Parts: sequence; structure tokens; C-alpha cells
Amino acid sequence: MSEQVEIVVVGAGVIGCAVAERLARAGHEVFVIEKNPGVTQGENQSSRNSGVIHAGLYYDRQQRPHKARLCVRGNRLLYRFCQRYQVPALQCGKLVVAAKQEEVPILEHYLARARDNGVPCELIPGPRAREMEPNVRAVAALHLPTSGVIDPTALVQKLYALAAGHGAQFLVQTELVEARARGQALELTIRYRDGAQDRFAAGRMINCAGLYADQVARLLEPGSPYTLDPSRGEAACFYRTKRPELWLEGMNVYPTPRRLVLKEGTYFTVGVHLTPTLEPRMQGPPVVGPVVTVGPLNLPARGREDFGGEHQPMRRFWQEVAPFFPGLREDDLQPYQVGVQARLAGHQDWVFHPDPVHPPSLHLLGFDSPALTSCLAIAEKVAGFVERGPQALAPEA
Ligand SMILES: Cc1cc2nc3c(=O)[nH]c(=O)nc-3n(C[C@H](O)[C@H](O)[C@H](O)COP(=O)(O)OP(=O)(O)OC[C@H]3O[C@@H](n4cnc5c(N)ncnc54)[C@H](O)[C@@H]3O)c2cc1C
Repeated sequence: MSEQVEIVVVGAGVIGCAVAERLARAGHEVFVIEKNPGVTQGENQSSRNSGVIHAGLYYDRQQRPHKARLCVRGNRLLYRFCQRYQVPALQCGKLVVAAKQEEVPILEHYLARARDNGVPCELIPGPRAREMEPNVRAVAALHLPTSGVIDPTALVQKLYALAAGHGAQFLVQTELVEARARGQALELTIRYRDGAQDRFAAGRMINCAGLYADQVARLLEPGSPYTLDPSRGEAACFYRTKRPELWLEGMNVYPTPRRLVLKEGTYFTVGVHLTPTLEPRMQGPPVVGPVVTVGPLNLPARGREDFGGEHQPMRRFWQEVAPFFPGLREDDLQPYQVGVQARLAGHQDWVFHPDPVHPPSLHLLGFDSPALTSCLAIAEKVAGFVERGPQALAPEA
């Protein structure tokens, strides 16, 4: 490569692929650099998550304005996209359950937030919740009809295929190892699998490097203030077909959000939840499959590649869900998967950070959940930055 390319996207997870698709469709010249052996091959967040299409309930507009807006818009765009391109997804809805009377005021608080965010949501009595999911223990619940589930790998593959169809070029097993501003342009150094390196010029870089986004930002701006604090999310599962009395109809079932006070600060956790998986069919939309995932149990990650090692005992998952799904037994559960999430230390919202050294370049930092749900809205925002400038990054733009 020797000539200058217009836009380099670093990372081919769901965000990099969505950004590449959006920009290539608009006629931009796009190169995507991915260090994994292939798109959705190898470890990243986009292939190891819960696959929930979030409605947008949890994020307050004051402290998390990007998540609040982009999740609601992303939810709508994603269903349309999945229908158009036959990506397996199901709008199965979600219950957020109060197992005890003391939890009901918390649901009322979230109901007000849902209304503020424009999220369809209803507070329903326990018996109505049990008509929807008979095995749930609930004195009341929030019902969110726009929540759902998706096959995340199929989504990334479709975005990749569409981006490539619009002319985006993907270089896999290729890592960005150096970036320097040279006047208006960037000089980028990439390393191939065999260790050989290449250098080329680009008009701008969009950093969608997920768990490595802070390191990629430091290639250009060594003093970048952003540091990721990755979190390990473990999931277990059970077969809803093995014990008929345990049958889950196929909704997402969440506990009432809880406040966690840790040494780094106070967090709200959506909690360990039950999420159906999808079974594709030869024709028509997918159906709910036999496996129900239970997770994630969030733990501090022992590094950015903390995908292996021992699972937490199944007892811990069981203890989390037993209060609102009492039929489950500890021995119904088995380990499912581990994912690592790109949380940004000291920030609750996603950060879109135009590079101070090379302002046409943009870093996407801390794109944790619900970034899968929001990927198409995030890509729209990035396209706004490329086409109209940094004012397009304001949350309300
Ligand atoms: C356990 C868990 C559960 C989750 N559940 C949900 C959910 O239910 N719903 C939801 O909406 N979201 C969920 N999320 C969040 C969602 O999965 C992520 O926010 C989203 O996948 C982030 O995508 P990404 O493209 O930014 O990152 P990634 O998928 O991590 O992709 C980044 C890519 O950049 C590449 N890369 C990094 N550095 C370089 C470099 N120097 N050169 C070249 N390539 C590089 C990496 O190899 C990687 O492929 C969950 C996440 C986890 C971990």
C-alpha cells in the first residue's frame, strides 16, 4: 500500500463493521484493519455477549446521554435491519421483576426513566407477569415489549458482507501498531501475521478497537486521559426442555436493578438475567431455542484477554436468580461462555473523542453494553462526524 486511503477503521467487531458499512454505503473509501484471524473469528466482545436487544430502560439522559438516545434509536434501526437482511432476531419482550414489595419503588423509578427516554414500558401486577412467564416469582414487573434477542455473530457477518459489497476492504490478521500525524494526513504502520510491516497514509482513522481502544488512542496521543477497566462477564445456561416445569416461554427476565457500592464507586447493575437463545429455521423468523442463558456475573477482568480459566461455581448463578425464578436448581446449570467488556474507568457513558493531535480522527472509547443494540445508531453518529464535523457528536445532534 502506498497511496493515501480516505478512512481507516481499526477493529472489525460489530461497531467497526457497522461504521464501515455506513461509510462505504455513502461512497467513502474505507479500509478496515482487524488483528483477529477473521471477522467474528477470535476473541472480542461482539461474539461473546448476551445477545439482548435492549429497549433503553437503564440509561439516564443526564449522566449517560449517548447510551440513553442511541440505544432507543439503535433498537428501532436494528429490528428493521434484521428484518430486511434476515438476521436472526426476535422481539420477545422483557420482564424486569420485583420479587419483593420493597423493590416496587425501584421499578417505579425506572418506569419514569423509560417514559423520559421514550421507551415503551408498563408496570404490571405479579399475576399478569406470571401469565407471560409462569415460573417467575413477581409481586410486580416492568414489561418492555421492544426488548428482544439477536444472533450477534450473524449480525456482524451481515454488516461485514454489506460493507464489503459497498467496496470496503478488510485486512484481517493485521494489527495497527503505530500512528503519526503528518500534516493533514496520518501515517499508519500495520503488522501482518508473519511479522512483516507496512506503512501507508490515511485521511483519518476511526478507532473501533473495543478492548484496545485506549491503547490505539495512545498511539496518536500518548497523553490520552482514557483508560479501560475491563470487566469479565461469565454466563451459565440451562435447557428449558429438560424440565417441563421449568419452562421459560421465551422472554428476557431480569431482576430489579441493584445498587453496588464498590471501592471505585457506586454502580447500578442490571443483574444476572435469563435470556433465551434463538434457533434458526430454514424459512421465516427464528424460534426460541432450548438453551436459556443465565448471566452475566460481572467480575474484574484479569487482563483484556481474560476469556479462559475456571468458571464461578454454578451456586453463585443460582443464588442470583433463585429469588425471581425459584424453580431453577443448582444442578440445572452448566457453564456457558465468558466475555470481557470494555468499560471505561471513571465514565458511565460512551466517549466519542476526536483526536486532539489529528482532529479528523475519532476514538470510540468504553463502548460496553448496550453497544450491540445501538451499533447502527452509533455508526450514524460517526458518519455525521465524518460528513458534518464534531458538532454531530453532541448527544442531542
Ligand atoms: C458479557 C457481555 C455481555 C454483553 N451483552 C450485551 C447485550 O446483551 N446487549 C448489548 O447491546 N450489548 C452487550 N454487550 C456489549 C457489546 O457486546 C459490546 O459493546 C460490543 O460488542 C462492542 O463492539 P466493538 O466492535 O466495539 O468491540 P469488539 O467486538 O471487541 O471489536 C473490537 C475489534 O478491534 C480489534 N482490534 C483491537 N486492537 C486492534 C489493533 N491495534 N489493530 C487491529 N485490530 C484491533 C479486536 O481484535 C476486535 O475484533 C455485552 C458485552 C459483554 C462482554
